[in-house]
Amino acid sequence: DKYGIGKALAVLGVKAENSGTCTGNSWMDTSEGYLSSFSPADGDLIAKVQLTDKESYEKVILQGQKAFSEWRLLPAPQRGEIVRQVGNALREVKSELGKLVSYEMGKSYQEGLGEVQEMIDICDFAVGLSRQLYGLTMHSERPGHRMYEQWHPIGIVGIISAFNFPVAVWSWNSMIALVCGNVCVWKPSEKAPISAIACQHIIAKVLRENNLPEGISSLIVGDYKVGEYLSHDARIPLVSATGSTRMGKLVGQAVGARLGRSLLELGGNNAIIISENADLEIAIRGALFGAVGTAGQRCTSTRRLIVHKSVYEEVKSRLVSAYGKLVIGNPLDEKNHVGPLIDEQAVEMYLEAIKKVKAEGGKELVVGDVLSGEGYESGCYVKPCIIEAENHYEMVQHETFAPILYLMKYDDLKEAIKLQNAVPQGLSSAIMTLNMREAELFLSAAGSDCGIANVNIGTSGAEIGGAFGGEKETGGGRESGSDSWKAYMRRQTNTINYSNALPLAQGIKFDI
Ligand code: NAD
Repeated sequence: DKYGIGKALAVLGVKAENSGTCTGNSWMDTSEGYLSSFSPADGDLIAKVQLTDKESYEKVILQGQKAFSEWRLLPAPQRGEIVRQVGNALREVKSELGKLVSYEMGKSYQEGLGEVQEMIDICDFAVGLSRQLYGLTMHSERPGHRMYEQWHPIGIVGIISAFNFPVAVWSWNSMIALVCGNVCVWKPSEKAPISAIACQHIIAKVLRENNLPEGISSLIVGDYKVGEYLSHDARIPLVSATGSTRMGKLVGQAVGARLGRSLLELGGNNAIIISENADLEIAIRGALFGAVGTAGQRCTSTRRLIVHKSVYEEVKSRLVSAYGKLVIGNPLDEKNHVGPLIDEQAVEMYLEAIKKVKAEGGKELVVGDVLSGEGYESGCYVKPCIIEAENHYEMVQHETFAPILYLMKYDDLKEAIKLQNAVPQGLSSAIMTLNMREAELFLSAAGSDCGIANVNIGTSGAEIGGAFGGEKETGGGRESGSDSWKAYMRRQTNTINYSNALPLAQGIKFDI
């Protein structure tokens, strides 16, 4: 147990074989088989999880409906108190959960800890929010009338999450949904189900200690078929789904067909514009972390660099030299910069993308390859690569979830902004410049079309205080900070007549 994984699993309550269906504290047996989770770090089996079947799914939903009828009556600040305790419970196991996330997903231990910190932060944010679910009051046009709006909980929130943020995405959704008075059913990625089992144990303990009913926070495990249970189920008023655009289109259509609500957080194709007025030190560091951090497996990873022709050669040579110093290896070993991809299928997609972009005319500046030999036994380690390419190439228009960085040149900033926007996705974007006019143009209505636009910060990594999400094929959803909570509630407009008459709106007369 070189990295203390066995110990972490024991602390987190993970066993060799786990049920994957749980309504809080009650774990169910199903008629389905087990899913095995292997670590991309060393290829070893972490643990097994039993898949959710239709029958146990039904039990989860019925229990969720029952729990909702109670939970929604608890005053919001008291719901916030429960979420505060979840945050504290996460603080107690931060290192263990961070380690498990790192081992199961392949991100560095530092990033695993960062992911858990993000969960803690969102708990704190949600606690404050629990006293700030404000509605507006309006002035009625009728005498003796009062008009206002209030926000009510909506019911069961279905959460479908991706492998790359195996626990934070759940907390972004569920901690806010819970203070809003909803109950949650989470279907984590089938590529990282053990981290989800650990989270379920953490929240279940808090709910148990507060004598709260089963069904407030439930877990179901499986692949897309179990995700489809949620998207097709009219008893789930909101499905929040994070993952690929392909998945989002399917979920969005299924939920839309029943006129439910979906909150979609899908793929990105994020670019940094490096202007001739950039601080190149900051620009190179931002681009480097954005492109190779988490082995290019963040929805906000930097995929394209659009560089002004006057600094192009310098940026190119500094990046190539920085790539030469990257140390690739086990993510739990803190000396390594780059860990593995999630599985061998992801490695195949990485190789395929490089092949295709080269066939389209791309020129490899830093050659990509799969690593083998000692320390790379899992077969999931690849070399981050840089390719000179054109924005219109088919592969450049695609999100490849791997450390491939496309380099391109520009003359004029308007042209650069046009290139940055000329992809189907619209998640994160950045400009590196010390020139105020350039920065403001980039942030203006004629600038970046993305949900996130930064100046002198890379594309990757966002703070929880802002609303997170993107436009176009990124799905349009917003999660986490600002007023994202409104997506988890229904708005009700109330008009109260305290006069002795019944005047009609718009001055309409209806006398008999
Ligand atoms: P994925 O689309 O393969 O899977 C995501 C989740 O959707 C999984 O839980 C999966 O089981 C489920 N799913 C797949 N098909 C489904 C269907 N038809 N119905 C219901 N559920 C279905 O994505 P992934 O490989 O796990 O994650 C990588 C992708 O996620 C990338 O595209 C990345 O950009 C995106 N992502 C986006 C954000 C964001 O906030 N915008 C955050 C993280 C990841």
